[in-house]
Amino acid sequence: MTLACRAAIRIAGIVAMFLALGPIAAADAQNSPLDVAKSLADSALKDGWSYDFLAGLTTEIGPRLAGTDAEARAAEWAQARLKAAGFDEVRIETTPMTAWLRGAETGHVVSPAPQSLVLTALGGSVATPPEGIEAEIALFRTYAELLAASPGSLAGKIAVVTQRQVRSADGGGYGAANPIRRAGPTEAARRGAVAYMHRSLGTDSHRLAHTGALNYVDGAPRIPAAALANPDADQLERLAARGATTVRITLTPRTVEDARFSTVVAEIKGRERPDEIVLIGAHLDSWDLGTGAIDDGAGCAIVSGAARLIGALPQRPRRTVRVVLFGAEEMDYSGPAYAKAHAGEAAKIVIAGESDFGARKVYTMLVPPGTAGSLFARGLVAVLTPLGIFLNRDPARMGGDDIRGLQAAGVPVFSLRQDGLDYFDIHHTADDTFDKVERAELNQAVAAWAGFAYLAAETGVDFRALAAAQR
Ligand code: ZN
Ligand code: ZN
Repeated sequence: MTLACRAAIRIAGIVAMFLALGPIAAADAQNSPLDVAKSLADSALKDGWSYDFLAGLTTEIGPRLAGTDAEARAAEWAQARLKAAGFDEVRIETTPMTAWLRGAETGHVVSPAPQSLVLTALGGSVATPPEGIEAEIALFRTYAELLAASPGSLAGKIAVVTQRQVRSADGGGYGAANPIRRAGPTEAARRGAVAYMHRSLGTDSHRLAHTGALNYVDGAPRIPAAALANPDADQLERLAARGATTVRITLTPRTVEDARFSTVVAEIKGRERPDEIVLIGAHLDSWDLGTGAIDDGAGCAIVSGAARLIGALPQRPRRTVRVVLFGAEEMDYSGPAYAKAHAGEAAKIVIAGESDFGARKVYTMLVPPGTAGSLFARGLVAVLTPLGIFLNRDPARMGGDDIRGLQAAGVPVFSLRQDGLDYFDIHHTADDTFDKVERAELNQAVAAWAGFAYLAAETGVDFRALAAAQR
């Protein structure tokens, strides 16, 4: 028997398993869900729609800070694009939020060696007085050292944490370092600091600072906070090692209390079970320094492009494929808001995933508990293996920031992980621009999402039942 023969028999066997998945059976043996999923993936690899979508979004709108006019225009832009692309229904849901707007941001070493510093305010930071804050720095090479400092020990000082983020393909280094940005300002303030700076959460060595949101804690003092470009953090380390160093920083952000953000919801309606939903999301808002190409215009292009290809099939899948483009991920608003507004629907969402890790190739997939050993997963492997994607046997523990609330409400989640080795070189910097995106890599991700979403929508797989059976 030839290898091709063996492969054909193996695929036929998987098709047969799919047909037996019941209660939903394939429409006919000529166009089994596996055949269709494979042809969808092939189409995605040759398609230009997602790349054009991303070029349009980053060019015609540009930066899209949550709660701003630009973010609202992005939602209207996406709505028009998705309507034109053949989605059955495209609506915009708006939600109140407090918007945060960046102002001026400057930093200087005052003594012993006057020079400028490259920094950027953290999202949500309060402002310094207009003339800035000038103080001696207290430098900590690790976050743990800051936490070990006693109350009052930083009185009148600018606390600086220079711990480095570790580079890793899965972005684990970012997660580990995240408290430095999120909680660092509050921890420094509790010890008496008048301002806070940290080495950017980023793996590059360019003089570009990486912004990102902080989280103040109610009842704790709020001090201005900024991220330093990596070389500037190095410079402060060397200066501090030589003796007392005084710095002046000026940050003038402001907030808008009565702002709103938009969530774009677009559907390919299921032909048999329209109320059962496969939800694939990404976030349309971006930071203001770049044009939000890899974070997360790419994700919007990927999930929208995947669903568009499914919608272009001769017939709709059995279940509904819903694309959700969240409008305020960076400032932590959209996930909780969506889960709250759609709480009554959670039981109808059969699975959810979010694409928010750039524009590179997907290399592994994680499925809900109990699914990795299922017939569904075997079909998925048959479709995604040719794309260079393997099934990770660990269950998906997280689907994305914006679907965390749905997950908490019992919605099973999946993850299609992209190569993130260089993601944090440009993430949240002025360098997050369209030229960084490779069309072929973006298309591979579209292919993966199209294959996954189609199989989940066309077959009768019940991820909750699979998880329950495993327990
Ligand atoms: Zn981001
Ligand atoms: Zn993001």
